[in-house]
Amino acid sequence: MAETANETWAYFEGAFVPLSEAKVSVMTHAFNYGTGCFEGIRAYWNADDGELYAFQMKAHYERLLRSCKTLMIDLKMSADDLCEITSELLRRNDARYDVYIRPLAYKSSLELGPRLNIAADALTIYTRPLGNYLDDTGLSVCISSWTRIDDNAAPARAKITGTYINSALARTEAELNGFDEAIMLTGDGHVAEGSAENIVIVERGTLVTPPTSENILVGITRATVLALAADLGIPVTERRIDRSELYGVDELFFCGTGAQITPVTSVDRRLVGDGAIGPVTHRLQAAFNRAVRGQDAMHRDWCAPVFAGAGVAAD
Ligand code: PMP
Repeated sequence: MAETANETWAYFEGAFVPLSEAKVSVMTHAFNYGTGCFEGIRAYWNADDGELYAFQMKAHYERLLRSCKTLMIDLKMSADDLCEITSELLRRNDARYDVYIRPLAYKSSLELGPRLNIAADALTIYTRPLGNYLDDTGLSVCISSWTRIDDNAAPARAKITGTYINSALARTEAELNGFDEAIMLTGDGHVAEGSAENIVIVERGTLVTPPTSENILVGITRATVLALAADLGIPVTERRIDRSELYGVDELFFCGTGAQITPVTSVDRRLVGDGAIGPVTHRLQAAFNRAVRGQDAMHRDWCAPVFAGAGVAAD
């Protein structure tokens, strides 16, 4: 091993190795056919506690294992095992800052042919520092000309590497046309989600978000936001949303591990509300920012302490 004192570690196919040694062959099945699934997890540094909290880590790994089932990947590990490996990796990297964790489970075979019934499954996990992924002062978004992938073609519910071409096409088109982000519609024209975020609108004080059957990735931040809304007494409805509804809503925001809670202030050049970040979005952002750093006593179970919690996996 050629690790240096400053080099980051990765978990790669069964061992902790320097990140520079975590490499796959160009022949790797997942590289050729997109036969991998992944997660994005954040861990937040709390300077007062001198602790790093991995946020909703177990829920992310439970989703990874569901994605693995869709791809017929058998890691022979539980969500708790995966939490433990991740905590160990963060400790090895001495991650005392806000960090993003990227686990990838993939078909590591070198054989040709797109299929899933191949018994060559691998896991890698790397970490990197990450602040805001999107501008949190209010995004200008457009409705994408790209349709969201359909469950019976390439399931959005599973976080599959190959299906992110759908996100990349939408996000690229949006950026090249001068927007910050895109909102994709389902094949039958209802609002699905952003390229890497779920969408929530605020309509006369009620949160409205598309149901899980609308070809969305069922977000863990989405679930977090709905739980925080319940705490704050904000009503929530899951129902189909039409495109043109977005032009008249009071508030609109994206939520996701990367995006956290990101306000959207215009859609197709129409201002959302009066173009300022709305009061419900503000309240939820404040509650979210407390919860992720372990400062919400009611939801401490969402935060797995990495350093003090050596050997302990949180729910
Ligand atoms: N939708 C898509 C397409 C995503 O990539 C993400 C990010 N994982 C989300 C929604 C939000 O999911 P989560 O809150 O679990 O990060």
